[in-house]
Amino acid sequence: MGVSGISTPLFKPIDLSWFSEFFGNFWLNDIAMDLGTANTLIYIKGRGIVLNEPSIVAIEQSSGKPLAVGLRAKEMYGKTSEAIRCIRPMKDGVIADFEMTTLMIRHMLSQVCRRWALRRPRIAIGIPSGITQVEKRAVIDAALSCGVRRVFLVEEPMAAALGSGLPIDKPCGNMIVDIGGGTTEIAIISMNATAYSQSMRIAGDEMDEAIVKQVRRLYGIELGIFEAERIKMVIGSAVAFERARSMRVFGRDLATGIPRQMEITDEVVRQALNEPIESIVSAVTTALEHMSPEISQDIMSRGIYLAGGGSLIKGLTERLQRETGLPFYRTQDPLSCVVRGVGKIIENMRELEALCVA
Ligand code: ADP
Ligand code: MG
Repeated sequence: MGVSGISTPLFKPIDLSWFSEFFGNFWLNDIAMDLGTANTLIYIKGRGIVLNEPSIVAIEQSSGKPLAVGLRAKEMYGKTSEAIRCIRPMKDGVIADFEMTTLMIRHMLSQVCRRWALRRPRIAIGIPSGITQVEKRAVIDAALSCGVRRVFLVEEPMAAALGSGLPIDKPCGNMIVDIGGGTTEIAIISMNATAYSQSMRIAGDEMDEAIVKQVRRLYGIELGIFEAERIKMVIGSAVAFERARSMRVFGRDLATGIPRQMEITDEVVRQALNEPIESIVSAVTTALEHMSPEISQDIMSRGIYLAGGGSLIKGLTERLQRETGLPFYRTQDPLSCVVRGVGKIIENMRELEALCVA
């Protein structure tokens, strides 16, 4: 008996917190992934973004072995012999080549997480909102075949809105337009649920293809797809610049087959980009037409948020603003907001698991 009358236990309970902490961390090394058509990003719980690479794999034809993944594979694109094939395994936001996607995921995971297969983490992956059950299943199967323990899917607009810090849990309409490589996702989110969503397969890749077509038609020069992407990033725009711009580009003369360089102007690039940009503008207008008056009011006062790499086209916010009369803002770091959003979910799985669709 102690002085105060409280009995002291004969045996002190063993402190097992170190044990649960060690094994908890060992097992629960959750991962968030943005498996994009253009770029794949990985976020590890407690560590943040650990990988950001183009979604490309280079394989040796004879053995089927991966030679490079990500940026190194992108650098090889179009420059290899028949013996090496560079593949973009994702197309229009979904898996186009299952085997290569699996290979890419496995390779990327092993780059960022030692012995990850042994740890068998849970993984949450962003997916376009408009994909079919079969396409969803393919994402789940690809991740499971890499050895993860459990797969959660999060719709990309939801993840982008969460990653951009929008108040998606409040009873107010948050409108987000995520323009990626393969898809443009438009969604209105309120009280942790999607009130409207539309996914269309027109985005950055179509813009690159439009530049290739335009240069072929006007100058008889064939550009590589990544040369077209470079042009889009440097002088591509949705509205005219105050002063004309131009840049030197490289391609192959279609008549002679000889390499050529030429100067291309922002005007020519803008003409090429007009059709895909118009499609995005009209999809945004359609979304606005579907809103209830209450949500319209929220969106008029709060504005519309642009995410994804395609939102970096110069003058896009101005063009959208001009055509709709509503305020548009680009989210901070639009290329990483999806993975940061999925990352927020894995950091707080207990509260945010409901945001996952599978
Ligand atoms: P995904 O989620 O489909 O992988 P991302 O959100 O990573 O796509 O965006 C990739 C797209 O953004 C590509 O089409 C790329 O060309 C485009 N992009 C990236 N940076 C810019 C830029 N500065 N200007 C215009 N387009 C860009
Ligand atoms: Mg994306």
